Amino acid sequence: MLGERMRKLLVATRNRGKVREYQELLRGLLLELTWLDAEGISLEPEETGTTCAENAVLKAQAYAAASGLLTWADDSALEVDTLGGAPGVHSSRYAGAGASDDDRYRLLLRNLEGVPWEKRTARFRCVVAIVEPGGALRTAEGTYEGIVAFSPRGDNGFGYDPVFYLPDRQCTMAELAPAVKNQISHRARAARAARDILVEMLGDRE
Ligand code: IMP
Repeated sequence: MLGERMRKLLVATRNRGKVREYQELLRGLLLELTWLDAEGISLEPEETGTTCAENAVLKAQAYAAASGLLTWADDSALEVDTLGGAPGVHSSRYAGAGASDDDRYRLLLRNLEGVPWEKRTARFRCVVAIVEPGGALRTAEGTYEGIVAFSPRGDNGFGYDPVFYLPDRQCTMAELAPAVKNQISHRARAARAARDILVEMLGDRE
């Protein structure tokens, strides 16, 4: 039987959009969800990993140790093939400190100037890590393949969404309705796989 403390799952994010997405996705599990701010956790572990998986694990372990709770942490990135996988783990810092989402995707477009459509292949990657304090560590991954468009389109989403073209939907990620993005994105794919892991972990212990 999973102990009382383990019935709470700390979803280690401060992003309200992700809170809503994960609340929806984890509905129905025998777990009480909680968040960093709700737990009064101000810790900001340095993301020193060289991959999304390393950073997700690093965050989940740090927050599990700080809270004593079963912890879920994610990390995501945009990988552009012709740039050797950049911006990758540097996606959120690509244009330096204080830059906006627009600054970052505009820098990306500049760095891809002259690169033809067929060489602009890219993917969003998300890794979710689940850590029990002093115990199990599991990870789940989701990706979404696309093309970096020549110019931005769409007002939804965030980050690189306006320049991430989905060949299978013939629009950018920022042109998708939020509910659709939340069903199909790299994060949704990783989260569904992570949910299955949680079900397994809970089942193992009940
Ligand atoms: P995080 O690890 O989920 O906070 O994502 C790191 C960075 O990757 C963000 O700051 C964005 O620049 C980019 N990113 C992650 N997910 C998305 C997405 O769904 N759309 C667009 N950009 C994203």
